[in-house]
Amino acid sequence: MAVSHRLFRPATATVKNTISSFFIRSISSSSSSSSSGPSLDPKIDLEEAAAQLEKSSSSSSSSSPSPYKGRNFHWVFLGCPGVGKGTYASRLSSLLGVPHIATGDLVRDELSSSGLLSSQLKELVNHGKLVPDEFIISLLSKRLEAGKEKGEAGYILDGFPRTVTQAEILEGVTNIDLVINLKLREEALLAKCLGRRICSECGANYNVACIDIKGDNDDSPRMYMPPLLPPPSCESKLISRADDTEEVVKERLRIYNKMTQPVEEFYRKRGKLLEFELPGGIPESWPRLLRALNLENDKQSAIA
Ligand code: ADP
Repeated sequence: MAVSHRLFRPATATVKNTISSFFIRSISSSSSSSSSGPSLDPKIDLEEAAAQLEKSSSSSSSSSPSPYKGRNFHWVFLGCPGVGKGTYASRLSSLLGVPHIATGDLVRDELSSSGLLSSQLKELVNHGKLVPDEFIISLLSKRLEAGKEKGEAGYILDGFPRTVTQAEILEGVTNIDLVINLKLREEALLAKCLGRRICSECGANYNVACIDIKGDNDDSPRMYMPPLLPPPSCESKLISRADDTEEVVKERLRIYNKMTQPVEEFYRKRGKLLEFELPGGIPESWPRLLRALNLENDKQSAIA
């Protein structure tokens, strides 16, 4: 099957420079959006996708019962594969009453359906490569649009932006308040990805790895992360992600360092980056993260 060169065309400076004019145009062409599932239209391009994102990222009122209702957090989680972005983003999402939007989940959902470009994109994902910016922006816009129709406000993004182009596009359409950069010792990252298990029925995430890294000195103390084992009801239904093999995780880490680390710098320069080194498993890390975010005194945080 031939893949349109437009889908895989890298973003050029001209494309980025003209994006703002596309945003303005997109406001007056709202009828072009569809509420159906994300499209794998081979003709999709970056300008089109960015214009969709602009329309879908504006806030609407929330019906969330969270004590933080109305604050409309626009937060981003950055961090290497296996660091725990999904775990902490989803806990914060419950606490703050804003949706947790993981682009990796959007991609996996999309690839589980049979679309025109599914197999080519699956090939990229299963080899640890990024999917094209225009595809991911289109998926994200559709997800934001659907949330807006349900009255969602704000979000915690996990896995987006992952390239400087994506960060520039996001900056053009919305104001991100905070970017949390999660860090974990490199020895633990691979083990965490290899130990990850998902219940094929309820979608819950577990980890069978028991990480115990000996400490060398004060700068590098012992790190213990116990496994997060499934309850009996999920035990027989566990699956692993196709991209959680040793070879592919190493490639994802390489791609992260090459493509996503510059995004850290992008937000550092803008004074939006909060660096957070995970000291161990959830029991140790969660209270410290809340403290770092000035959320520690809230009674709700204990039950999140
Ligand atoms: P990870 O555990 O490596 O952080 P994710 O679950 O976030 O993985 O994403 C899985 C895969 O989905 C990525 O390896 C990539 O192929 C694709 N993907 C997710 N988000 C993006 C993005 N923002 N840009 C490009 N590709 C993405």
